[in-house]
Amino acid sequence: MKNFKKNKEDFTCEKCSFFVVGNGYTNHCPECLWSKHVDVIPGDRLDLCCGLMEPSRFEKDGGEEALVHRCMACGHEKRNKLSQNDNYDKVISLVKSRIG
Ligand SMILES: [Zn+2]
Ligand SMILES: [Zn+2]
Repeated sequence: MKNFKKNKEDFTCEKCSFFVVGNGYTNHCPECLWSKHVDVIPGDRLDLCCGLMEPSRFEKDGGEEALVHRCMACGHEKRNKLSQNDNYDKVISLVKSRIG
């Protein structure tokens, strides 16, 4: 047996099957930018939806770039800071697709 311990920071993307190794900030897939609705307020275990969250839009707030993820299952929206590991081409194409 390998010393395999489930770490909430590491996950396999359910959208593109990319294995995401967390760095303490990662909560979405750097390849396709999709996330998963498992990140609850600490202590709040009522919201274990587990739906896939699509990157629905891109926002800038005080110079800080953030992705807004929307849960496909329940519609919950959540802002996530962009990570340096993120596929920036995907971010750009997301921005462009929103502008048209
Ligand atoms: Zn992915
Ligand atoms: Zn949800």
